[in-house]
Amino acid sequence: MIPLLSHRDDTILVVGLGKSGLSAARALTAAGARVSVWDDQAEQRDKAATKGFTVYDAESGDMTDLDQVIWSPGVPHTHPTPHPLAVKAQAANLKLRCDVDLLATAQTEATFVGITGTNGKSTTTALTAHVLTAAGKRVEVGGNLGFTALDLAPLDADGIYVLELSSYQTELTPNLHCTTAVLLNVTPDHLERHGGLDGYVAAKAQVFGHQKEGSIAIVGNDDTPSRTTAQQLASGGLQCVIDISAETELPNGVSVINGVLNDNHFDENATIDLRGLKTLPGKHNWQNAAAAYAVARANGVSRDAIAEAFSTFPGLRHRQELVGTLRGVTFVNDSKATNANAAEKALSCYGAIYWIAGGIAKAGGISVLGPLFDRVRHAFLIGESAKDFVEELAKAGVTTSTHQTLEDATVEAGRIACADGEEDATVLLSPACASFDMFKNFEERGDAFRTTVLDTWPEVAA
Ligand code: ADP
Repeated sequence: MIPLLSHRDDTILVVGLGKSGLSAARALTAAGARVSVWDDQAEQRDKAATKGFTVYDAESGDMTDLDQVIWSPGVPHTHPTPHPLAVKAQAANLKLRCDVDLLATAQTEATFVGITGTNGKSTTTALTAHVLTAAGKRVEVGGNLGFTALDLAPLDADGIYVLELSSYQTELTPNLHCTTAVLLNVTPDHLERHGGLDGYVAAKAQVFGHQKEGSIAIVGNDDTPSRTTAQQLASGGLQCVIDISAETELPNGVSVINGVLNDNHFDENATIDLRGLKTLPGKHNWQNAAAAYAVARANGVSRDAIAEAFSTFPGLRHRQELVGTLRGVTFVNDSKATNANAAEKALSCYGAIYWIAGGIAKAGGISVLGPLFDRVRHAFLIGESAKDFVEELAKAGVTTSTHQTLEDATVEAGRIACADGEEDATVLLSPACASFDMFKNFEERGDAFRTTVLDTWPEVAA
């Protein structure tokens, strides 16, 4: 836990009692601050009260007695409608900050790397931390991934915090000065929460908003909002801007073309071949690798050390996670693909696919995947969406079967893929759907797939 001793005499309200709010309330209480808490849900307030926290009087409290308001990123404060407590805080001249901002003001010696973007944040954060750690750096990794900010360990001047930051967090971190900040990509997401695309891009760009002169800004070049952000930063002249791309060769940036990373920024003509890396398949992961490479180079890691670390990256669970191989058939867990756009990334990576899909479909179903259906040898469908998906796939000439459980679908997919004996066959769980009709969350769904594979075929070796 991060010590927050400078807050020992403060009176602080913590709003939102999820993972990050509770962690902030605990750390502030441990420091000796007078903490009260609030959550819009009565059940959460009651739970906090039973843990000994004082519940704030949201009706009559006017906040003039408060020194700080710590705001949980998950609680909307401006859109779709301003939160009454955020309005009161503004009237009392209190800036909303989240737990990541408390970390930033408590750990002023260490270096901060902040990573944001619509997609690929977790992968890039984990990969970056892996590379820096392999190079002998003292690293703490967390934020929106794994440990919350205040549950990380304190670091000295030689330490690096590698933080995954969501757009909800970047707009609540006025004191976070990242010496290296990354914006991977921007596609429309969370628009309601940010009042539209401009608000969303502005929130993401806040990762650069508090950087100091000479800091590094690493920015994706493959979509218009990110490119525009890079141009604005470059013309501002404060940071050193490094462009990254998985589409275009960049004369002064880091690009990955056809799987080969090419560094024209740090080391003219240094390359790394990413094509054989099983835990980083596909163009989307090449963008993540370009970002991690740029962060590592900016923090003093050599090209050779990065190449070596890429080859030992274990990958993240549920994101094209390699479960193992059985008689030439590879089993891949991509349970994180809860919509068709995410499933598209995985389907693009493999040739002969035995595809397990279904659950609660998103608007548009799987129609965007049409151009990839010729890769699917058989689709094993589960969940609420099974009937609709069968109809759509049958129209495209794909053979299908429906299954009552994911376990049945997995066993059948493995059996048929092995029997077909096609070279480079892949049994791919990439559901293109939410999991809530059959599972608590996508993690539970992915775990069920992995367990079934390993229990059914113990000889599967990763
Ligand atoms: P996030 O933390 O931003 O949700 P993850 O690293 O967890 O991102 O990846 C989630 C899914 O997003 C992956 O399973 C993959 O389908 C897709 N993805 C990963 N990296 C990228 C990227 N750079 N661009 C687009 N999509 C990506």
